[in-house]
Amino acid sequence: MFKDDLDKLKDADLLREIHDRESAQGAMIVLRGQECINFGSNDYLGLANHPALIKAAQDATGMFGTGGGASRLLAGGTGLHETLEAGLAEFKGTPSAILFNSGYSANTGAIPALAHDEDIIFSDELNHASIIDGCRLARADTHIYKHKNMGHLEELLKNTQARRKLIVSDTVFSMEGDLAPLKELKALADNYDAMLYTDDAHGMGVLGAGRGALAHAELTHAPNIIQMGTLSKAAGSMGGFIAAHEDMIHWILNKARPFIFSTALPPSTIAASLSALELIKNQTGLKKLWENRTHMAEGLKEKGINTEISKTPIIPIQTKNSSDALRISRELFERGFYAPAIRPPTVSMPMIRITVTAEHASSDIDGLIEALCAVL
Ligand code: PMP
Repeated sequence: MFKDDLDKLKDADLLREIHDRESAQGAMIVLRGQECINFGSNDYLGLANHPALIKAAQDATGMFGTGGGASRLLAGGTGLHETLEAGLAEFKGTPSAILFNSGYSANTGAIPALAHDEDIIFSDELNHASIIDGCRLARADTHIYKHKNMGHLEELLKNTQARRKLIVSDTVFSMEGDLAPLKELKALADNYDAMLYTDDAHGMGVLGAGRGALAHAELTHAPNIIQMGTLSKAAGSMGGFIAAHEDMIHWILNKARPFIFSTALPPSTIAASLSALELIKNQTGLKKLWENRTHMAEGLKEKGINTEISKTPIIPIQTKNSSDALRISRELFERGFYAPAIRPPTVSMPMIRITVTAEHASSDIDGLIEALCAVL
């Protein structure tokens, strides 16, 4: 029934496929029976296979079992869930926080809870798909502003009358690796009486001494800031969260459908996140992550490969087209490196998305640069 549609995707080099590992997450993984150096992971600090997280997850399973069994509102959570929420609020400097089952759920749950009907959303054109979907579900008018273009955003804000205005932005853009102008966004939110919703999926554990992009931009909590985050990347675990003013959190708890209608995350995952939070606070792996990031960016630049857009461990390399992106990724794999091809509709311009982690050895980075020079 869908064969023709699938064939069309394949002909356009846009067919997606699953790449499942036969090993733990890390700098070296096994894919399709072959060992390779992994440049496709958001496990920036190497916590996904950290002994402290594994032990915490095992202990929590021993105490509470495997499944939640019901939503948080129906006793599916545990004291660990509450402790994690308190820990995240403290970590983000906000009065309150609420957990979701993923970052995707947090965005598709919280955005519609915060803006609907007569409200208006302002969203950066390169925001993550989960934000785009959250805006669609909100059924509020959504104005898309040009990427990081504060002049355009201001123009839109000026010409809008609404009961509530919500500006939404990734802090670190997940494919480009560049940073949102958070200070300017906050100033515009203040001037135009808007809320500022920040998705810090790739900032937590990475920027601001691990505390995230807002800390990096020297911004502290304010009643009009909503901080979204995920525990699935630098925290090496799973789950999304919103940290904000307590009334907003209470409202989200009452209105966000993915929170209300989905079973609570399992205790093992929550315990792993709690353990990760402590390691992130101690800046575990952070220095190494940035040393590796500098090594990669400078090494690529020396070879004439343009990485200027990126300011973080996410380093995209644009390719001519999707077919070229697939070829480069395949040829890198043949040389022992995994670096995924990212194609439309995820991005408008196809790319190889390289992510550097604290787990990479210097030789891994040199090896990828050499391999890229051979295949680009
Ligand atoms: N926001 C951004 C910016 C992301 O990159 C991602 C993950 N790709 C998410 C949200 C969703 O987070 P999760 O993987 O925890 O669902």
